[in-house]
Amino acid sequence: MKETMRGYNQGNIQNMNRTLLLNLLRREKVCARTTLAERSGLKQATVTHIVNDFIAWGLVREIGFMTGSKGRRSIAISINNDDVAVAGIRIARKNYSVGLFNLCGEALMIKRGRISTGQSAREILDIVIEQMDKLIQNFPDKKLLALGVSIPGPYNFRKGRISLVTGVKGWSEIALKEELNVHFHIPVAVEEHANAAAMAQYWYSKDKNEPDVLVYIAVGQGVGAGIVSDGVLLKGDTGSAGEIGHTTIDIHGPRCSCGNYGCLEMYCSTIALTKRVNEVYQPEKEFDFQEVVLLIKKKEPRAMDIFYEICDYLSVGVVNVINSFNPQVVIIGDEICHIEPELMLERIKANVKERVVPQIWETTKIKMSVIEQDSMVHGAAIVAIDEIFDNPSDYFETGDAEEMKNRFYNQHFI
Ligand SMILES: [Zn+2]
Repeated sequence: MKETMRGYNQGNIQNMNRTLLLNLLRREKVCARTTLAERSGLKQATVTHIVNDFIAWGLVREIGFMTGSKGRRSIAISINNDDVAVAGIRIARKNYSVGLFNLCGEALMIKRGRISTGQSAREILDIVIEQMDKLIQNFPDKKLLALGVSIPGPYNFRKGRISLVTGVKGWSEIALKEELNVHFHIPVAVEEHANAAAMAQYWYSKDKNEPDVLVYIAVGQGVGAGIVSDGVLLKGDTGSAGEIGHTTIDIHGPRCSCGNYGCLEMYCSTIALTKRVNEVYQPEKEFDFQEVVLLIKKKEPRAMDIFYEICDYLSVGVVNVINSFNPQVVIIGDEICHIEPELMLERIKANVKERVVPQIWETTKIKMSVIEQDSMVHGAAIVAIDEIFDNPSDYFETGDAEEMKNRFYNQHFI
């Protein structure tokens, strides 16, 4: 039965309130209990009770005094990152990253490596696991709580498998989540790149007030979107929500590998850009993507025309996203956004302004991603942190009354 069709008993409500306060704490970083009460709308006594549990578990600590909202001196609290960490893995087509992070999503260490053409999914996974093991050895004092993985293809969370990664063989035969869980002995959460990056954008946003609805559009070798609504990813039934790369923008267009015709990603991915440049420049030379980027950066006229054409197609995708989800923020990221970000943004904004109703245009921000490719490894870590914060008692409550009593050293009230 669906979650929405079930009632909430006392235990569920307590857990939801714990998650809410942890999320507020990671947004605020350091704050007083009164701030948590104000921002959550919970009674001060409830906040005190939950925070005291967190302190007893070692999940939150008191770090001194601060001036509260009404000028009162209050005890400052923050998430305790001393003994614990989460792991993040980003697997792409050409490279990977492994990283360790604290519970606020700040990186302790990130390592990157290249993937050679022709390497199978099995070989790639073995390398990634080996590198993650090495990285963990650098932090012998940290207890690893959970692992998040960001992967390039659609991930079927019901089957626990990657459905497809164009250009790399064997992913669909690997039970990714299960294998990583058996190897690292910790819970594993897997998300497709655009979803992981959308979560990274949501949590690393400098804005004090997070957007209610944020859409991140990843434009690389494929095109996909991650949709975050009230801090939660919109996944759909099996996890493929946001596959905007496979929405039709030309019903008479060529057939796509997905079965549909005239799909968006056939017109504005990095593959499409490279292909179009080569069509125009032939037979002079066969350019790869990096060479195409150089032509555009040099403002070579024919390459610029194609770049703007790509921007125009992408704009249609952005308009469709805006009309479908009514987001406050649309962020365009991945490989395409680092070529000429300002020119691209200007062109897309001009197109979108013409194609959406004025009230919607006025309330929608369009931005280019400023986080480099590693937003996805940060996103992977955030997916792992969400896993922990959704059920903090599973990770921190020891059940040992004596130990809890010993750790419950600091019972303060607001
Ligand atoms: Zn398609």
